[in-house]
Amino acid sequence: MDYSIVIPVYNEEESLIPLQEKINAAMEPISSDYEIIYVDDGSMDASGEVLRKLAAEYPEIKIVSFKKNRGQSAALAAGFRASAGAWIITLDADLQNPPQEISKLLPFKETYDFITGVRIKRQDGISRKLSSNIARSARWLILKDTTMDTGCSLRMFKREVIGRLPVFKNFHRFFAYLVKSLGFRIKEVNVQHEKRAFGVSKYGNLKRAWEGIFDLCGVFWLGRRLLEYEIKRD
Ligand code: UDP
Ligand code: MG
Repeated sequence: MDYSIVIPVYNEEESLIPLQEKINAAMEPISSDYEIIYVDDGSMDASGEVLRKLAAEYPEIKIVSFKKNRGQSAALAAGFRASAGAWIITLDADLQNPPQEISKLLPFKETYDFITGVRIKRQDGISRKLSSNIARSARWLILKDTTMDTGCSLRMFKREVIGRLPVFKNFHRFFAYLVKSLGFRIKEVNVQHEKRAFGVSKYGNLKRAWEGIFDLCGVFWLGRRLLEYEIKRD
């Protein structure tokens, strides 16, 4: 299989049908050999029902459902585990990452192992953008990580990268740093970003800031202890 598209879903009932249609339209010129893995992270709205109806219509859909809400990173990790594609693409379920932007990442497949979007015109509130800027400075100071936009959910991993990635809560905020620390090649690509069309954001700035400091400490240690190796192929 060429691609697995992994999408964490928490209370996104209104977005799922338009999202599915947009993904199909975006993938049509790219490949017919792909799967879409929706990970329902304990949604309490009708997301689960909508996903089951979609899966009955579209054979490329796989659903993983959590018993309870376990967070975006757990949903991503479960999606990665269920995936079979040579490349794994991630997207948010809320339509903030337009699926047609996937094609902008593809030209870099030959040369890079991880390709990640940079939201050129980020469509979020001012306080969210400010807190992301503070977090970026902290990452630079402590990790010397120069990644432009760690919060863009449009990304693409070579399967080998997924196999080596450590899994922990909030690991998605450090993908680029971890992938670089593992010795893989990364590319950042400018992509469009949309306003949330339906539903609400699942995060508040305060909780994110506190967890961010705690996570930085852990990743500081981890970055120095990751096992980095390359396998000879001859
Ligand atoms: N999400 C999830 N579990 C959670 C919180 C969020 O699966 O506990 C999903 C959510 O449905 C969306 C993505 O993670 O697809 C990003 O969440 P959100 O849009 O709320 O984050 P923001 O864009 O505001 O940073
Ligand atoms: Mg969002």
